Amino acid sequence: MEKGLETTGIPSMEELEKTPGFPSSKRLMEGPVAVIECLQEIPCDPCETACPLGAIEVGKPITNLPELDEDKCTGCGICIPLCPGLAIFVIDYTYSEDEALVTFPYEFLPLPEEDSLVNATDRSGRPLTKGRIVKVLARKQFDRTVVVSIAVLKKYAQRVRGIVLNRGKGE
Ligand code: SF4
Ligand code: SF4
Repeated sequence: MEKGLETTGIPSMEELEKTPGFPSSKRLMEGPVAVIECLQEIPCDPCETACPLGAIEVGKPITNLPELDEDKCTGCGICIPLCPGLAIFVIDYTYSEDEALVTFPYEFLPLPEEDSLVNATDRSGRPLTKGRIVKVLARKQFDRTVVVSIAVLKKYAQRVRGIVLNRGKGE
């Protein structure tokens, strides 16, 4: 069994699946949807107002964990750069026959190039597999958080949460 948040600082799948921000397996298979990996009861709620469809609720007290209404969520990704904890991702298992699209916040430079092959990392930042950068979205209203989408084999979609660029090593 995976060690969890308390031991490693990294949430296990078991812990994540118990939170109200985690979509059901059924919804995950139906198309792009937000995956909110927010497990600590901290006073924070920008995600609630970030979603134009009202698919995220924190409510009162403000330390509630965010709850995702998976039927309202379209997986648009607007909430991703507006979460100060970098805790929101969008997964699209319908991207292609073999690949899922994982979309995540990115706050490093240089930015990855679209269509490049990069190392996709797990929640601890360890390289896990290769993935293809599909989209790099930078907007003024996102401040300095860029939204990156990477295509990876479906079996990695619930583990890939970032990338690492090895400039000068063939990337
Ligand atoms: S992905 Fe879009 S629709 Fe879904 S919770 Fe985020 S902002 Fe709302
Ligand atoms: S904005 Fe991010 S860190 Fe804050 S409550 Fe929402 S998901 Fe958690």
